[in-house]
Amino acid sequence: MAEQPFLERILISQEQIKQRVAELGREISTDYKGKKPLFVGILRGGIIFYADLLREISIDCNMDFMSLSSYAGTKSTGEVRTMLDLRESIKGRHVVIVEDIVDTGLTLDYLMKSLADRGAASIEICCLLDKPCNRKVDVSPKYVGFTIENEFVIGYGLDYNELYRNLPYIGVFKK
Ligand code: 5GP
Repeated sequence: MAEQPFLERILISQEQIKQRVAELGREISTDYKGKKPLFVGILRGGIIFYADLLREISIDCNMDFMSLSSYAGTKSTGEVRTMLDLRESIKGRHVVIVEDIVDTGLTLDYLMKSLADRGAASIEICCLLDKPCNRKVDVSPKYVGFTIENEFVIGYGLDYNELYRNLPYIGVFKK
């Protein structure tokens, strides 16, 4: 690949992502057999992972979406807001939240609290990337694609100022 001015290096290749997403799909399909889970995709960063993961799910399931915001550039603002809420009730449902990356954990902590009193049968988190070294609150995703160091990454849904979401791999952003 030609050198890209915004890219420090490729961290996770297209092939590695494909393989891991298929593994996660198999694992979740086994765990939720007979439960018709509701997969909640978090816009916008989680959407490419969501679309690939859902095609690896082999059981009946439903889809819904939420949009949350907390980042500006490469820094979390720490203040999370709901930009778009779920269309459907989650009462009695087994919910799997599908997110791109857990960093400080503030976004998912906010989300878990906002869903807590809606009567779901269960709520678990599936994230493609986990940056546990940067955690500020206790959030433990059940399904994790890759655990990474504290670096700002782009691609496969993840942006820098709304660019680079379309890259098919995950790369470290060159500041
Ligand atoms: P948290 O609230 O856990 O700090 O961050 C969650 C959100 O911040 C993610 O959904 C993602 O949109 C954004 N984020 C965290 N780390 C990164 C990163 O390394 N790269 C990009 N592009 N976004 C990130």
